[in-house]
Amino acid sequence: ELLGEAIFEFSLPYMQRALAGEEVVFEQLLRQPDGALMPVEVNYIPQRNGSNIAGFYALARDISDRKRAELDHLTQTLNRRGFDMRLSMACATARRYLRPLTIIFVDLDHFKKVNDIHGHAVGDEVLRTIAQILCDQVRESDIVSRWGGEEFVILAPETPMAEAKRLSERLRMQLEVHQHPGVGQITASFGIAELAADQSDKAFINHADQALYAAKAAGRNRVESFDG
Ligand code: GH3
Ligand code: MG
Ligand code: MG
Repeated sequence: ELLGEAIFEFSLPYMQRALAGEEVVFEQLLRQPDGALMPVEVNYIPQRNGSNIAGFYALARDISDRKRAELDHLTQTLNRRGFDMRLSMACATARRYLRPLTIIFVDLDHFKKVNDIHGHAVGDEVLRTIAQILCDQVRESDIVSRWGGEEFVILAPETPMAEAKRLSERLRMQLEVHQHPGVGQITASFGIAELAADQSDKAFINHADQALYAAKAAGRNRVESFDG
């Protein structure tokens, strides 16, 4: 299916990577003639003429359906499926270019009580608000996802541990000061890990989970990092 006359912008950094012989696949928003944005997966293929570059092909595939399937209905953050895909991509990039990558687990404190006291609908509203607070505070390049129930996860590319600690502490305070209508204060516990060289995705996640567990055990509403 053809995408029609969308306005396409080439990205120089990705072009350079394609020229260096790398397989370049990434996501981008295309502006359609009616102004609407369409998410596409783009593939750059340099056309060689002997040792010269004659031009570029850019293949753009409509991924609107896939995008919708990757969103959590309640919070409109990425769901687990969308997150897992980005996690493996981010880990692969960080390993390959020896770049820092941190992951932050966020688990709401005593959230069961909110449902028990105020009902599930109010609990849902609190989850939506907290997702919004998290999204507002992170960088565009950070990935926020609803990992499950009342747990969120933030993946922060190009972010070393010290920076992730500062970010987490800021988030912790933002949540702490927010007054949810009819409910009041809802705090969260944070567990951080930094991807180590040659570490598996699973071990990386596991470390953040251990740090989160430590934050809960140490009394909640706090940030702990895995330093192993
Ligand atoms: P802790 O501080 O140890 O994390 O305590 P907690 O109560 O947050 O932890 P627990 O795992 O015991 O309970 C999580 C609660 O989150 C239970 C469940 O009712 C609630 N929850 C999970 N998903 C949703 C949801 O989609 N909507 C609402 N309203 N509540 C949810
Ligand atoms: Mg939980
Ligand atoms: Mg909890």
